[in-house]
Amino acid sequence: MSDRWRRRTCCRRADGKRFSSTFSLGVRGAACGALEGRCEVRGVRIGILAVQGDFEAHAAMLARLGAETVEVRTPAQLQGCDGLILPGGESTTQLQFLQEEGLADAIGKFAKQGGAIFGTCAGAILLAAEVRNPRQDSLKLLDMTVLRNAYGRQIASDVVNGPTKLKKQPLEMVFIRGPIIERAGPDLKVLAEYAGKPALVQRDNIMAATFHPELTDDTTVHEHFLRLVAVGTNHAAGSAIS
Ligand code: GLN
Repeated sequence: MSDRWRRRTCCRRADGKRFSSTFSLGVRGAACGALEGRCEVRGVRIGILAVQGDFEAHAAMLARLGAETVEVRTPAQLQGCDGLILPGGESTTQLQFLQEEGLADAIGKFAKQGGAIFGTCAGAILLAAEVRNPRQDSLKLLDMTVLRNAYGRQIASDVVNGPTKLKKQPLEMVFIRGPIIERAGPDLKVLAEYAGKPALVQRDNIMAATFHPELTDDTTVHEHFLRLVAVGTNHAAGSAIS
């Protein structure tokens, strides 16, 4: 974790309970610095799609960073979330569930209202505008084309290091039957690469990783996501800093 974000803050969750965290959330964190650490910030609530896949690993990492998490299986559970994680797993199964339960539409509305979204691996596939190998429907929230299982079946547990814009050191990336981002639209920022292909991309407050940051000890990527969540929440609430 970079020192910039390691400032101890006193925080208050949406339910009024205070908690202490070494994690200072983005814009709010900057404001905390300006107020010499005496400010209070509301906690953010991150929904995690919990149909199948590694949703618990995301919950554990976000808990380490002091964020409140809630498992999401219905549109109602998404309400009140500031951010949403679409975890790795099997995108075909997840897509079918999202469509059957009305969550695909709910997530589309959530994005339109400024909710932050982070998809990892299968989650990245769900976010893509176009999915190939084989073709499948998707939420179409990021202008990119992905090829499923593009590294081959047996790259199952490859751990590599690649350059990232999020920190000076290379980022550890765990690939598990991951997709390749074959085309990234001009409005996507590429935050990390592997083998010359984008591996972590962002447009506004929507992010996708073809790897699994939740399976490493490095909190860099989730910290970045929480900063995006905090910025969005500040825009929406206006009065998040008290
Ligand atoms: N291969 C899976 C899919 O196509 C994704 C694998 C993963 O999420 N680790 O949906």
